[in-house]
Amino acid sequence: MSLNDTPRSDRLHIGIFGRTNSGKSSLINALTHQSIALVSDVAGTTTDPVYKSMEIHGIGPCVFIDTAGFDDTSELGRLRIDKTCEALKKTDIALMVFSGPPLPVEDKWVQTLKAANIPVITVLNKCDCQVPSQITGQIEEICGISPIPVSAVQGTGIDILRQAIIRALPQDYEAYTITGELVQNGDTVLLVMPQDIQAPKGRLILPQVQTLRELLDKKCTVISCTTDQLDAALNALKAPPKVIITDSQVFKTVYDKKPEESRLTSFSVLFAGYKGDMDYFTKSAEAIARLTPDSRVLIAEACTHAPLSEDIGREKIPAMLKKRVGSSLQIDMVSGQDFPEDLSPYDLIIHCGACMFNRKYVLSRIEDAKKCGVPMTNYGITIAFLQGILDKIDIHS
Ligand code: SF4
Repeated sequence: MSLNDTPRSDRLHIGIFGRTNSGKSSLINALTHQSIALVSDVAGTTTDPVYKSMEIHGIGPCVFIDTAGFDDTSELGRLRIDKTCEALKKTDIALMVFSGPPLPVEDKWVQTLKAANIPVITVLNKCDCQVPSQITGQIEEICGISPIPVSAVQGTGIDILRQAIIRALPQDYEAYTITGELVQNGDTVLLVMPQDIQAPKGRLILPQVQTLRELLDKKCTVISCTTDQLDAALNALKAPPKVIITDSQVFKTVYDKKPEESRLTSFSVLFAGYKGDMDYFTKSAEAIARLTPDSRVLIAEACTHAPLSEDIGREKIPAMLKKRVGSSLQIDMVSGQDFPEDLSPYDLIIHCGACMFNRKYVLSRIEDAKKCGVPMTNYGITIAFLQGILDKIDIHS
């Protein structure tokens, strides 16, 4: 992806599922009019899911997830199926591709997708000559919906499929924005962004860039400063800013200095609502007060960068928690796609703002935590709680 592209995490994720050699990769090529997926007549060409970012006319920025065939019973096949299950957690819309009479494995996957509340479109591929009505009927029987006949190779039926994808867009798709009701059109907003050792050289991090872009779209007047320039920035304004958005690490400093009438939040707190479940995250923060020296905490970070000194997830939050709870508190750290299957050993999960993940994926992690009865919150909310200002900052769902 180039720097000019919409980040993958903000794109509609369309998962392509089907048995080996059902033509999933060719279907992506037909939908995008490009040769982007690896296509071969040899069964099982796709191993790990392949993510391809594309624009689709009428839909906008999407990412296709080309998954491995789920009918492979070999040892390698089982690994592939695990990866396909992981891809399912990120999928906003699923295309279930058939190329012949349905098998029980396909029935199982359709049920799994439906149970995960993922809209499913069934596609009967390889209809090069005539649509086999018997197969169509069988698919309809197991899926409850009739398949859209297509020939990915000849390009037939593709426009109908594209329309079906548009109709299947989840109702709340694009309903969530970063600043929501907190910031209105034309507001003056002050951003506090310390450029410390953690900040990447020569650029801003994605949550800051995305927030800034949204504020500009809202025709806000945006000024930004580092923490040490906060007084100067406030003095430069004729009136206090309507909203101050700060890096969570300096929450308390900014809170202590902010004009009374300015509302205060952080980038990470905003992302709690944008990517996750604000109600669950704020309610779960109460679990911090219940931690004991024997408790176990999981910290999950979507980035996979090498650990930095003063790292917020690896150093700062663990140090703050241990100071409060005791040094024997057990803290495990995972990053990127790693996330334990069994969350039950944990008393609390603390996630980063997850700007690199799509909302669906973060919600699936929250769902897993809920199923195990484990509280889950995020970095910004944790810091606000630990600094005693959670009830004084602005949160919105
Ligand atoms: S993925 Fe998480 S840690 Fe990485 S920049 Fe985004 S919010 Fe920060």
